[in-house]
Amino acid sequence: MNYRHAFHAGNFADVVKHLALVGILLHLRRKDAPFAVIDTHAGRGAYDLAGEEAVRTGEAANGIGRLAGLEGEGALAAYLGLARGRDLYPGSPLIACALLRPQDRLVAIEKHPEEAVRLKAALAGIGQARVEEADGYRRLAALLPPRERRGLVLIDPPFEDAAEFAAEAGALRAGLKRFATGIYLLWFPIKSPAEANAFAGEVLQAGAKKALRIDIDLGAKAPGEKERLAAAGLIVVNPPFGLAQEMRAQLAAVAPLLSDGARAEVRWLAGEE
Ligand code: SAM
Repeated sequence: MNYRHAFHAGNFADVVKHLALVGILLHLRRKDAPFAVIDTHAGRGAYDLAGEEAVRTGEAANGIGRLAGLEGEGALAAYLGLARGRDLYPGSPLIACALLRPQDRLVAIEKHPEEAVRLKAALAGIGQARVEEADGYRRLAALLPPRERRGLVLIDPPFEDAAEFAAEAGALRAGLKRFATGIYLLWFPIKSPAEANAFAGEVLQAGAKKALRIDIDLGAKAPGEKERLAAAGLIVVNPPFGLAQEMRAQLAAVAPLLSDGARAEVRWLAGEE
């Protein structure tokens, strides 16, 4: 467990993931009925973009930092309001907490002990949020279905090795067996189109009947940047009605700011609206 999200927080992949997260939560808020959010790989919650890790990689400057002049509506406006121009960039659990209503709740799971301590501090005093220092994959099945019978499961693993694809698809399979109507937001890196497509296939085999894929690709890498991730994807299982269209419109505004050659694609894997 060497991965530390502090090096990557606020980068292009976080921007797209957190925009989708906000979009889904705004949909869940449209009904009064309570919902639960389960964040299986929550991270530390708040990231200092002026800190050593963020400055060393420059990833946040090339991610959220590039959206300085952007104006938006709906989920984009909400995301920018939460994430832009702050010293502490909010990770997924803090973004979720900002959008919970009194009747909603968050369970945030983080395996790394130091990150979990920081996450507990970041969420201290938020009564609807509970932090568990645990393996998110193992805990997920026990937490499903949530008593609210509505909600979102975010699975955002570190992908330190390729075995993570199978683990993520396996978690979805187990999750869908217990909570078939839940919304699942899965993040994955795109290092090769074939690997990403294979993962999309695994998601369908795991039982997803309705699934939306959202890719962001920065285009050609600069010389010497071979190691840096330049494309990432999300799969939303059981996406709320209208999310596909919203993400298409918002990413059309966001992608060109992230890089000159950036391309965003939103497509249905199954169950088109
Ligand atoms: N979801 C966070 C966000 O959007 O702000 C970022 C999460 S980061 C990509 C992945 C996190 O998962 C790291 O903090 C890492 O320590 C943690 N992690 C790694 N393996 C885990 C596991 N099996 N269960 C829970 N957390 C794990």
